[in-house]
Amino acid sequence: MRSTMQDVPLSIAQILRHGSTVHGTAEVITWMGTESRRRSYAEVGRRSAALANALRGLGVTGDQRVGTFMWNNAEHLEAYLAVPAMGAVLHTLNIRLFPEQLVFVANHGEDHVIIVDPTLLPLLNPQLPELATVKHIIVTGEDTSGVEAPAGMTVHSYEALIADQPGTFDWPEVDERDAAAMCYTSGTTGDPKGVAYSHRSIYLHSMQVCMTEGPALKQGDRALAVVPQFHAMSWGLPYAAFMIGASLIMPDRFLQPEPLAALIAAEQPTFAAAVPTIWQGLHQYLEQHPQDISSMHDVLIGGSAVPPSLMHIFAEQYDIQVLHAWGMTETSPLGSVARPPASTEGEERWRYRYTQGRFPASVQARIVDGGTVLPNDGESVGELEVRGPWITGAYYGIDAPEKFDDGWLRTGDVGTITGDGYLTLTDRTKDIIKSGGEWISSVDLENAVMGHPDVIEAAVIGVPDPKWDERPLVAVVLREGSDATPDSLREFLSDKIAKWQLPENWTVINEVPKTSVGKFDKKRLRAQYHEGGLS
Ligand code: ADP
Repeated sequence: MRSTMQDVPLSIAQILRHGSTVHGTAEVITWMGTESRRRSYAEVGRRSAALANALRGLGVTGDQRVGTFMWNNAEHLEAYLAVPAMGAVLHTLNIRLFPEQLVFVANHGEDHVIIVDPTLLPLLNPQLPELATVKHIIVTGEDTSGVEAPAGMTVHSYEALIADQPGTFDWPEVDERDAAAMCYTSGTTGDPKGVAYSHRSIYLHSMQVCMTEGPALKQGDRALAVVPQFHAMSWGLPYAAFMIGASLIMPDRFLQPEPLAALIAAEQPTFAAAVPTIWQGLHQYLEQHPQDISSMHDVLIGGSAVPPSLMHIFAEQYDIQVLHAWGMTETSPLGSVARPPASTEGEERWRYRYTQGRFPASVQARIVDGGTVLPNDGESVGELEVRGPWITGAYYGIDAPEKFDDGWLRTGDVGTITGDGYLTLTDRTKDIIKSGGEWISSVDLENAVMGHPDVIEAAVIGVPDPKWDERPLVAVVLREGSDATPDSLREFLSDKIAKWQLPENWTVINEVPKTSVGKFDKKRLRAQYHEGGLS
């Protein structure tokens, strides 16, 4: 029997309509370095309609791709809404890709238009001649003088383009399974790979961001989206905020600890999201420049494992709850969120917070080793595979059969799942250290080393060893003036790590290299080691 329910497609247009009317007084707040500019969601709705009209005027039809090369700000939010709602496809370009990767991604995605922030033109200009499909460059603001466009590309100013356009648009009814937005992984190996999110997947994922067992974004929240809009759709915050009536606080290009602290003081966010390195940097800064940041009740941290020491610092020094979450570009990105069971109390709850958390009902997860699905017993270790309505089932335009297993996405992450669904990751398959036939988790080692009060950052890689095949090398960044030594650090680890895992190789460095989305870049660390730059 078929249901009697109406078959109404889920769409970004519906999020846009709802947010700009029902939540029309919520705001997107863009930080300018010392003060903010503010725009109500009602106005964002009108300007998104004007942008859609303007893009139609430039000939954007069907599922043509509109790229964005932008910071997190109000105009980027407008592009997020206007482009998919008009039926076209938003393509967020990572501003920190290497030039050849940027060219690859824009050409592979066949971007027709690129909307660019004027401060980013020095990065985009040199690549423009190689962008084969781009016909229009739209520069946010009024001034287009910084663009060095080759023949065949037309340059527009965003404000002039939308100035005379109507503030309404007849949003088409789309097939909910059609692409709304696309994003490429940052490509730690090989060319970046693209995933295309559908209207349906984004809509369902936005609801998940608002679930109380998930990040629990709610009406009236002031959500600081530090995670870039080009990094896995800013973890879904822009759409979820527009859907639920949470205001968005956008840091624009001011991502360093000092301006971020100033932004927090000025705008008092209640919720925030970013990778661990951002919060480590902020904490370092606040140690020298104390400030109350407890307006943030929840801080969502993921993208790499959150050291327990960081969670405790946030709870005890700043009265902030860290929500540890796991996800990938391929998974929209949520993923699991570490909320302890309601039945637990006090200290016991920490044990659950340290994990990568539980998956929502919509996402199935399993641990697989050598083709066998292992039990969820909290002990059996294997690769995490996931399946669900906002998990990618393929990569755009390429075959990658090795990334899928009978309809499940192979995540390349290794860990365990408990009977009540808590995921604990020990590593990425490519980062695991194989020492004398046993595995050493680089994540466990990093977490333990970062528990030392003098350690700011620690990244662990496997290095060749004649006797054990591989042994861990710890690259560590120490607090200024610290007299910690490899011996004292080893001593500190001695009651935290099995004896055979205690690393004998240490190197003190000034900073752990970071990827384009701010994670520890172990590929670069390995390269530095092999070039003799680490000893
Ligand atoms: P990239 O692969 O370029 O880093 P993604 O942001 O898509 O881009 O990365 C997804 C990966 O990040 C996951 O496969 C996992 O290895 C890692 N990751 C994400 N969240 C966590 C977490 N909470 N703990 C450990 N690793 C994580």
